[in-house]
Amino acid sequence: MQLETQRETVVRFGLKMVESGLTTGTGGNLSIIDRNSGRVAVSPSGIEYAALQPEDVVLTDLGGNILDGDCNPSSELGFHLSVYRQRPDVQAMVHTHSPYATTIACLGWEIPAVHYLVGFAGKKVPIAPYATFGTLELARNVAENIGEYNVLLLANHGLLAVGQNMDAAFAAAEEIEFVARIYYQTRSIGKPVILPEEEMETVLEKFKTYGQKKNR
Ligand code: 13P
Ligand code: ZN
Repeated sequence: MQLETQRETVVRFGLKMVESGLTTGTGGNLSIIDRNSGRVAVSPSGIEYAALQPEDVVLTDLGGNILDGDCNPSSELGFHLSVYRQRPDVQAMVHTHSPYATTIACLGWEIPAVHYLVGFAGKKVPIAPYATFGTLELARNVAENIGEYNVLLLANHGLLAVGQNMDAAFAAAEEIEFVARIYYQTRSIGKPVILPEEEMETVLEKFKTYGQKKNR
């Protein structure tokens, strides 16, 4: 099977996404790009994650032409491709409807540096204006607002997280859901203290050397 490892990763993380409560039903989608061949492995549209098989994952090129797979690709293929085209550092993407991030997105707000873990996105989490799901307009709004950030809120919709691999994209989606929850909770009982920009610069530098030097 073409891009077997990538297709299996999409299946595995799709299941993880629904099991960890980052999305419900068939909401959300995931993809991985193989930069050597320019092929993208993207989750199919509207299939329960628990029923997903590697062969259901659709392969396309960067122009959206289907190369392999019998299923229809995710309705959000457009924004996946637009981000891959403009961000050579991005190799994987996770789109979720996680409840707290979506709550903030439904208020039309960004998420400021209420907790240092916002660094998984950048110095804040920006927001893209609303457009109907699966449209060229939404793909355009995503492309215009993601900049160098690793997470973007989608107004009245959800969240998009990107990374240099699926582990990184998923971790960003998970951590920003936590930060969104903290932002919601702090705003519910008081006025959150927002970290200054210089502190977020320090945090982002420190993230580069966080953890173990070698992969374990
Ligand atoms: P797909 O099932 O087509 O990927 O759509 C889910 C979704 O989240 C649309 O924004
Ligand atoms: Zn969606």
